[in-house]
Amino acid sequence: MSTPLRLVVLGNPIAHSKSPAIHRDFASQLGLPVQYERVLAPLDGFVGTVRALQAAGVAGANVTVPFKQAAFELASQFSEGARFAEAANTLVFSSEGIRADNTDGGGLCRDLNRQLQAQQLSLADCEVVLLGAGGAASGCMAAFKNHGVQALTILNRTVHKAEALAQRASSIGLPSAGAGFDAKAPSTSLPRVVVNASSASLAGEAPAVDPAWYNNAVLAYDMMYGAEPTAFVRKVASMNPALPTSDGLGMLVFQAALAFEIWTGRAPDGLATLARMRQGLGQQHG
Ligand code: NDP
Repeated sequence: MSTPLRLVVLGNPIAHSKSPAIHRDFASQLGLPVQYERVLAPLDGFVGTVRALQAAGVAGANVTVPFKQAAFELASQFSEGARFAEAANTLVFSSEGIRADNTDGGGLCRDLNRQLQAQQLSLADCEVVLLGAGGAASGCMAAFKNHGVQALTILNRTVHKAEALAQRASSIGLPSAGAGFDAKAPSTSLPRVVVNASSASLAGEAPAVDPAWYNNAVLAYDMMYGAEPTAFVRKVASMNPALPTSDGLGMLVFQAALAFEIWTGRAPDGLATLARMRQGLGQQHG
């Protein structure tokens, strides 16, 4: 039997991470010998943990809260998405050093396009209204640009963060504007995709924005996910019953699929894994 490729997910906390189940599903689909484990890194010991894993022959790592910025700082080579966000969720260890990727945006765009396809649309036909301007929002800018998003509006509780992120997104060729949640929505002829990248759902809340932001909307998407519909999905569905909604489980699975492809050169069937993860979520809470 060939030596397994050793991979880990690093975070603190980490016990809740679904990444091992997802990557083991990918490996089993493709018949690849992969060993994927959770690693709890001490809050003040991320660099030491990475060095020890490298010395032990680990080939790569996913990185989650709160180490995505520290992961970026450790690397010497970067993907466009990691460089823009100055944060990484995927590391590749090699004799030449550490390469940092950020697959969150690519994973989100893959899931959005998959769902838009049902309406014969893609992100390249749409404008995106993004609620939130934190790490996850920043991780999506390069991917939005690469998927041809026509225009982006970032609305955030802290207005200057939305304005600053929009300015940086415009500077890479993604026409963007930033404002507060109280901004009035201009009319648009483009189909709108509304994405919640705020942590409000964690508190059981949904950002209160001008309902006119949902005019012309074709999809409302919450990056958060769970066994039950999130607060954002519930709110949107009650205001606009005909508007398709989604939580972020697909983003999670597709960002993992992109990381798996970076490490192994093989593309798993993310949709099949997503169906199994969805079923697992239901069983956990059902
Ligand atoms: P950050 O802490 O970096 O950013 C949080 C954002 O949410 C900020 O814009 C913040 O606004 C806003 N916010 C926080 N609380 C509230 C509130 N009560 N009302 C309105 N806005 C609020 O978090 P991340 O960007 O890392 O994560 C955001 C969400 O995305 C989380 O729910 C996370 O679980 C999810 N996520 C999902 C992924 C997936 O694979 N499905 C991947 C990554 C993230 P302000 O600037 O004013 O503080």
